[in-house]
Amino acid sequence: MTSATSKLICPACRAGRVRIFYEALSAPVNSVRLVSSREEAVGFPTGDVRLGFCHECGFIYNTAFERRLVEYSSRCEESQGFSPFFRAWHEDLAQRLIDRHSLYGKKIIEIGCGKGEFLALLCGLGGNEGIGFDPAYVPERITRQAASRIKFLPEFYGEKDSELNTDFLCCKMTLEHIADTADFAEMVHRSLRKSPDARVFFQVPNVCRVLEEEAFWDIYYEHCSYFSPGSLARLFGKVGFDVLTVGREYRDQYLTIEARVGNGTPCPFAAEDDVASLETLVKTFASRVPRQIAQWRKRLEGYRAKGVKTVVWGAGSKGVTFLSTLNVTGAVEFVVDINPNMSGHYLAKSGTEIVGPSFLRDYRPDVVIVMNPVYQKEIVGDLARYGLSPEVISTS
Ligand SMILES: [Zn+2]
Repeated sequence: MTSATSKLICPACRAGRVRIFYEALSAPVNSVRLVSSREEAVGFPTGDVRLGFCHECGFIYNTAFERRLVEYSSRCEESQGFSPFFRAWHEDLAQRLIDRHSLYGKKIIEIGCGKGEFLALLCGLGGNEGIGFDPAYVPERITRQAASRIKFLPEFYGEKDSELNTDFLCCKMTLEHIADTADFAEMVHRSLRKSPDARVFFQVPNVCRVLEEEAFWDIYYEHCSYFSPGSLARLFGKVGFDVLTVGREYRDQYLTIEARVGNGTPCPFAAEDDVASLETLVKTFASRVPRQIAQWRKRLEGYRAKGVKTVVWGAGSKGVTFLSTLNVTGAVEFVVDINPNMSGHYLAKSGTEIVGPSFLRDYRPDVVIVMNPVYQKEIVGDLARYGLSPEVISTS
């Protein structure tokens, strides 16, 4: 483990006080790309995660990240839209943003719109017009009604798009994939020079929860950048936005920030002042995580020894990282996901086969490990529908 303060430059504040505090070597470089054979999955390309902490601004990032290793294409499957719980929250979030920013008959841009679900909500609920940017966009997923209000561009958003007038620019679960953090935020700010009244909304994972819960399954290669409420607010303030609010969503798993194009008025939020508490969490994280990993390994080895049929529920990045990190051969034969596009594929590195929930009717697992506790109730309900009542345990 490297512990010396290096000469690394923080990509968020550009100050030089970065210390590496956690390493996860040989992580699969893509955890949402569909892999169609076990051989390909087991031999999946890997890269190293070496998390650095900036003592100046609290930003955390993978100092070993190499952008060229990560693929973003229509082969990526990151949609959570198959969960009723997620859909209800998503719709509620869209409605709250529409109400707060009076988004009726307005022009909206979404950077990293994925399959376009959120932009379709904003445009459908508020009668808005939208432009969605995402190289992984798959056209056939959006209803015709939504499609008439939205233009999808299968490309990255950039300086070239500054001619587009917009009232609201949103960017969900994308900033954590971008390594040149301040460069990107500055580009977004510059791109809005013709829309001086525009509001912006960003959503990212909340690193405080990851650090507190030792959630090693939430640290993966595609996520090169990790934000706290403070580091997020400081970044936006630094590049010239006036921060309106910083919030937590989805049981504290996500952070949100709402801002307007301004002059970088100092951010008044108390949550900003979190560098000292992050320092404390970061200091103990590297010793807490190996204990957490050892406990899970012991548990899985125990199940394997007793022939306890165990499945993991959730084939997204959390499931990929959880199983590839624990690496207990033969303990978990299948991973379940309600997204039908994932069935029949394999998890990168561990090579675990992905199945749909109905598979469990005949397989009859004894234990189900739920990767995201948010979905536990929904999962117990799904299992009951198949007449199953296995032990359901959650990762946190
Ligand atoms: Zn910094």
